[in-house]
Amino acid sequence: MRFIITGPPASGKGSVAPFITKEYNILHISTGQMFREEIKKGTALGLELKKILDQGHLVSDELTDEMVRQRLNQDDCKNGFLLDGFPRNINQAKYLDAYLEEKGLKLDFAIALVADKDIIIKRLIGRRVCQTCGKNYNIYFTQPKKEGVCDLCNTKLVKRSDDTLEIAEARLQIYNEETAPILKYYEEKGILLKVDGNLKESYDTFLQIKEKVNAKWLLLSQKEK
Ligand code: AMP
Repeated sequence: MRFIITGPPASGKGSVAPFITKEYNILHISTGQMFREEIKKGTALGLELKKILDQGHLVSDELTDEMVRQRLNQDDCKNGFLLDGFPRNINQAKYLDAYLEEKGLKLDFAIALVADKDIIIKRLIGRRVCQTCGKNYNIYFTQPKKEGVCDLCNTKLVKRSDDTLEIAEARLQIYNEETAPILKYYEEKGILLKVDGNLKESYDTFLQIKEKVNAKWLLLSQKEK
């Protein structure tokens, strides 16, 4: 299965992703995570990326498309993938389609998480991340057992440098202007699945996704017969 998952920042894409990848035995590819890893390495490219991410802006299509292409070319993507945070605009969506077509493949589903603005803002400014295992917490919704420390690996939790109110507002605006149009693009292709991203438990979000994927899959396979 090949999926993309989209939605405004902090709509829960990263938290629901592990459930999806486990269910369908596919790889999770997060472009935001790939950028953050490059930043951590402290390379020249990493420094450039940090400036862009810290302003809440999008990285250029050229760089992002190429990074995704190289990642999808690797063997571990053969069984399918969940692309999280890509595509971020219509051009990237078209790039992905062209790439897959070239390989004789196609995208099965585009999952779109829909969430309310006030919830998104609290999730963004309250988000804390474990530096070791990447587990997400939130000071408003999902506190760790011990303040500021990961339940799983006892490491200090940190705030992402792009999780400030100002940047949250900027990222939301960019989402609405640049990313939201891809929903229509996938709707027209008949593969869009809209899911409620306001739920507290990511597992419940996953159950909605699974139900919608399975129902649509059945419908599509009946049509093909
Ligand atoms: P995310 O982890 O998906 O919230 O992404 C964090 C940041 O990485 C975004 O605010 C962008 O600056 C950058 N980013 C992630 N994915 C993309 C993409 N597909 N195109 C451009 N920039 C991206």
